[in-house]
Amino acid sequence: MSGLMDGKRGLIMGVANDHSIAWGIAKVLRQHGAELAFTYQGEALRKRVAPLAESLGSKLIMPCDVEDIATVDAVCDTLRESWGSLDFVVHAIGFSDKNELKGRYADTTRANFSRTMVISCFSFTEIAKRAAALMPNGGSLLTLTYGGSTRVMPNYNVMGVAKAALEASVRYLAADFGPDGIRVNAISAGPVRTLAGAGVADARLMFNYQKAHAPLRRTVTIEEVGGSALYLLSDLSSGVTGEIHYVDSGYNIISMPRPDVLKA
Ligand code: NAD
Repeated sequence: MSGLMDGKRGLIMGVANDHSIAWGIAKVLRQHGAELAFTYQGEALRKRVAPLAESLGSKLIMPCDVEDIATVDAVCDTLRESWGSLDFVVHAIGFSDKNELKGRYADTTRANFSRTMVISCFSFTEIAKRAAALMPNGGSLLTLTYGGSTRVMPNYNVMGVAKAALEASVRYLAADFGPDGIRVNAISAGPVRTLAGAGVADARLMFNYQKAHAPLRRTVTIEEVGGSALYLLSDLSSGVTGEIHYVDSGYNIISMPRPDVLKA
């Protein structure tokens, strides 16, 4: 199967460590021949991200905090100077104040609502616009979402609202950039034990609940998310855009808990 991404160059945003979903995606893309550039959020993360990126042969490893648009512009400038053009972007970035990822959504503050929306949702639009300018021959943009966007998950709160807006952004961006041959999709991943995932109260409980009730009776690995990302970022999915693709062991199709578990 190697060679699917031969000759393709892409940017991976959102690796914090080797548990990150973005890292699972990066490994699979590299296995299939992609050349990768990476961003890291701040100096503290550089020492974790740089060795990982280098282990996949990457030479472009750049700081980027999406709250500071100048750093996003700097990344795009470097990509233009180094590569000239870009084939794909993986946006695996999300943040909300941990203190508001518990209790009621109704208690979300205005400040955290705005910050969560900018980092977890609007940054994808800002990056898509800049990346599209580097894709004269078309390309593929991918972001990560979660099922708390469409159904209420305890404690997910404002992140659920941000993910709903992110998914709507995927559809609007797909319509905007479709005429340029640029596809825009999202993967809705099941729960994964990551830094961001651990920020939601009772994360372990949600993890075990989905494991018990998903049709596949397990959660997903970051490499499985990587496999679906490979499809969405490669020419295999050339006719697919504006899609929210679930990689969650089928949990999203379930309506009620398993009777055998409820009776036990
Ligand atoms: P993670 O903690 O490994 O990754 C989150 C990344 O977001 C980190 O690399 C962090 O540096 C980055 N980030 C946060 N604020 C940023 C900012 N201001 N500028 C630049 N980068 C910033 O966790 P993850 O679970 O791999 O998260 C990746 C994506 O997957 C997120 O969008 C998350 O919501 C989504 N997701 C996670 C799960 C899960 O259960 N872990 C499930 C579905 C979707």
